[in-house]
Order: sequence, then structure tokens, then C-alpha cells
Amino acid sequence: MQSNVKKTTSDSLIDLPLQPNGTKVQWSYLDKQFSSEKMEQVFDLFRSFIPTGDFTLGKPLQEFEAKFAKLIGTKHALGVNSGTDALKLSLKALGVGYGDEVITTANTFVATVGAIAETGAKPVFVDCTDNFCMDVSQVEKAITSKTKAIMPVHYAGQMTDMPALLEIAKKHNLPVVEDSCQCILGNIDGKNSGTWGNTGAFSLHPLKNLNVWGDGGMIVTNDDTLADTLGKMRNHGLAGRDEVVMLGCNSRLDTLQAVIGNWLIGDVHKITDTRIRNAKILDEGLGAIPQITIPPRLKNRKLVFHLYIVFAERRDELMKFCKEKGIQTKVHYPVPIYRQPALVNLCGHKEGDFPVTDRHAKNMISFPAHDHLTEAQVNYIVQTVNQFYKG
Ligand SMILES: *Cc1c(COP(=O)(O)O)cnc(C)c1O
Repeated sequence: MQSNVKKTTSDSLIDLPLQPNGTKVQWSYLDKQFSSEKMEQVFDLFRSFIPTGDFTLGKPLQEFEAKFAKLIGTKHALGVNSGTDALKLSLKALGVGYGDEVITTANTFVATVGAIAETGAKPVFVDCTDNFCMDVSQVEKAITSKTKAIMPVHYAGQMTDMPALLEIAKKHNLPVVEDSCQCILGNIDGKNSGTWGNTGAFSLHPLKNLNVWGDGGMIVTNDDTLADTLGKMRNHGLAGRDEVVMLGCNSRLDTLQAVIGNWLIGDVHKITDTRIRNAKILDEGLGAIPQITIPPRLKNRKLVFHLYIVFAERRDELMKFCKEKGIQTKVHYPVPIYRQPALVNLCGHKEGDFPVTDRHAKNMISFPAHDHLTEAQVNYIVQTVNQFYKG
């Protein structure tokens, strides 16, 4: 693909080949990641696994959990149905239930607050900072006698200020569940996302940085008691074949998905590093454009760019222009979760209650930065945005 790239005159765009979906820079990479050639390797793994019949909590799942725990640097990793379940079960294992409150951020993917609500607890929002994560300085005034946990979200592959948050959590004796679904291998001072809280929740959804062929999630923890509870909880509360010690649910990570996880997990550093490289090119190129603001890039943090988001003037027009030029962009999200009808009914907030989040909704734009982009495609994004503001 790279060889087809022709650089034309300085003000016109690089000539890029069309992708199978008719765009020049695609949002999704799945058709490339799981190309038919690579799939033969996975099918070979299936061919040897399927005749074992070891489908529930099977050996490949145990292997995947061990690899995942090693990758993140925790004692335990437990495979569950989804990232949402990883959050929900973590809260339940920590005793969160009806009438309780859990503090989280005003802008996140619906799953964070859905997981809280499913326990019977109420989400309590605080605003975000310009790195899209919880404004930790607002947490203390959100704590009430009903608060039972804090759920920071490492949004877009950025990191919440965990040292400051843990200080508050400790002072008020509140457990912390990290929503790390967008932040595998992100860290602060080398300490990984998911290892700061009582538990960390990861998603293996196809569009997450480490993915499988459908839904899947992982809970990590260093707490032996919690790991034991969670291990039972995801498997009907069974302590053995014939002993039910609690009422749980069926939220086992499919062993077939674990086969794929085992096949892919070795690539996760490469996937992450390529996203970081792409983000660097975008930061440099887009950062030189006066109408674009790059979010803060704090030096002691490793950001893993699950989403590459910047702030743009005339955002909606820019998106339209990018679409015409074949670049798929998105907004995460045009209506923040706290203003969605279901949450307005539950929590009663109105626009203006979380001004930073509201501002973001108006000017944030997400560009593709995944590891299946060529450098030419990344440069094309910069050129296109330049052309928009010049033209
Ligand atoms: C993806 C995601 C989840 C949920 O993960 P699923 O595996 O899709 O259930 C939770 N929180 C955030 C921030 C996410 O991006």
C-alpha cells in the first residue's frame, strides 16, 4: 500500500488508495487484523482445541488468565463475559448494592454507568478534566453517607490521577474499581492501569486495544479474597460441582475466545506502541494548527490512545470535510452520558452541571490512530485538517 503513495504538490493531498469500504482512512481495522491468511493460524488452534471438549473454564482460559495477569502485573486475572460484567461483578464483590452510590465521571461509555445501575446503586457524577478523566479534585464533595465505591474511567487510553484519587479513597475508606476498558498498558510512573484500585476491569471487545472475536472481559486484582469471590461469582456462586456458596451468575469468558486471546496477547505491546507512534505524528502535525488544541500530555504517564481525541474549532464542519476526503471520524460523545435520557431520569442533571464535559461534547473529535494505519494515512489526516482550516 505504501508504494502506491504519491506525494503531489505541497498544498494538495497525498494520493491514497481506497479501502474496501470506500474510504481512505478507515475507523475499523478488523478486516485487516483478521485477514483470511492470518486466520489459518487461529483455525489450526481451534482444530486442536475443539476435540478436547474443554469448553467451559477450560485450559486455554486458564492460560489466558495467567498471561493477562503477567501482562498487567497483578496476582490474579479472571475472564468474564464482557468489560461491563468485569465492572459489575467487581462492584458486587465489594458489596455494592441497592441504595448505594458509586462516584464516576460525567462523560464515559454507557457501560460504566450501566454496570453501576445493574447492582442497584446510583451513579454519582463528577466532571472531567481536559484529559477526559475524572477531575479528582471534585470527588471529595461528591461523597455522601451512601457512597460505597469510586469508579474512575481511564478514558481514551488516558489515565485518571490515581495517586490523588487513592489518597481520597483511603481517607474515606472507599474501594476503587478502575474502568480500564480503554486503557490496557497505560500507566503512571510505570504502574499500570488496573493495578491501582481494588480491582481493574478490562474489555476484550473487537474494537478495544486487545480484542477477541466477540465479547469478553477481564478482572484483575491483587486481593486473594476478592479473586476467590469473583471466581465463584462468575460461575453461579459454585465452590465446587455440588456446593453453592453464594448466588452468582454465568459470566465465564468463553474458552474459545481465550484461544484467540492467547494467540493475540503477544502482540499487545506492538499494537500499543504503534498507536503511540501514530498519536505522536498526529500531535505534532495537528498541534501546529492554531484551530486545534491537543489535550495535555503529562510526562509521567503512558497514554495508549484507545481513542485519539483533540479539540477542534468548527468541529462539525471539519468532520464533514474529513468525510468528503475519505477519513472516518467520530465524537465520543456528542451527548455525554450524564445528559442521556436514562440518566436524566435517574440523576436529574441538566446541561451546564458539568461544564468541562459539556465543552468537550461540542469540540472533541476522534481520528483513527489504530495500528493498521500506514504512516501515509496518518499524514493524510494532518494534511486534510490543514487544508480545511486554510481553505
Ligand atoms: C468498552 C467499554 C466498557 C465495556 O466493555 P464491554 O466489553 O463492551 O462490555 C466499559 N467502559 C468503557 C469506558 C468502555 O470503553
